[in-house]
Amino acid sequence: AKSAGRGVAAFYDPEMDREARERRQLETDLRHAISRNQLHLAYQPLVNAVNGVCSGYEALLRWSHPDRGEVLPDSFIPIAEETGSIIALGEWVLREACLTAAQWEPHLSIAVNVSPVQFRLANLAEMVAKVLAETNLAPIRLQLEITETALMKDRMITLGTLYKLKRLGVSIVMDDFGTGYSSLSNLQSFPFDKIKIDRSFISTMEGGGSARAIVRAIVGLGRGLNLPVVAEGVETEAQHKMVIEEGCTEAQGYLFGRPGSMMVIASKTFAEAG
Ligand code: C2E
Ligand code: CA
Ligand code: CA
Ligand code: CA
Repeated sequence: AKSAGRGVAAFYDPEMDREARERRQLETDLRHAISRNQLHLAYQPLVNAVNGVCSGYEALLRWSHPDRGEVLPDSFIPIAEETGSIIALGEWVLREACLTAAQWEPHLSIAVNVSPVQFRLANLAEMVAKVLAETNLAPIRLQLEITETALMKDRMITLGTLYKLKRLGVSIVMDDFGTGYSSLSNLQSFPFDKIKIDRSFISTMEGGGSARAIVRAIVGLGRGLNLPVVAEGVETEAQHKMVIEEGCTEAQGYLFGRPGSMMVIASKTFAEAG
């Protein structure tokens, strides 16, 4: 056999082989997940931090795999991004979320996560416009959540897409704020409508470390820029009290509701816990 490249072990590793095969299988399964009806959305409420009134829901993707059971997005979104499946998945998520939200009371908003890979597409805004028209959802009710990594690749393309989306009338939310790179300059260059503080800061706020100071600083930024600030991942009453004290306008987390399927009972719509 040919000698292996420099520094590469030439041993046959059955474990690595198995992992590679499993991963390829997951990729294939994912490509069929939409047509096989294995995907669904869970909805988690967003509430007014002070009075607890629900202002809308975030759609979170779930995959019911025939062998693996419920697979969470953190373990398959990265694969979908690498293989390009995320393009079809993302459009499916948006259509499904808009169709569902169109049946809610009109004051409720719907937040949809958009992958950085989708953001690099030239026609993202056209796709969103098409889905809004097809589902008859008022654009003002749609909030697209993007993370800072989406903005890093090609600033000009991203900026162009963001402005096209804004012209449609949809809102842009900066998700997981505080965890990416150059957060502050991004806030200056990109037309955001809302900031979501990453869960990691909320979950460590009670510890007496720097998290609370960071939350305070982010809320201060939001005030200065006239942007509402959402606290994500609020699980305890103590955290809730703190995010109110720090001035967060909205909150999301297990304390207010876990992601669940939508139930429509009479004229009321709410997410079922679980
Ligand atoms: P994210 O956008 O930051 O979503 C919030 C995540 O935090 C969700 O995890 C949610 O279930 C979880 N969460 C909410 N409240 C709490 C809480 O109080 N405590 C704890 N421990 N967790 C809480 P999930 O559903 O597993 O989603 C993980 C990530 O996967 C999302 O993070 C998002 O980045 C991505 N994702 C989910 N759905 C989609 C989608 O449709 N498209 C794309 N591109 N990404 C998605
Ligand atoms: Ca999100
Ligand atoms: Ca987030
Ligand atoms: Ca996150």
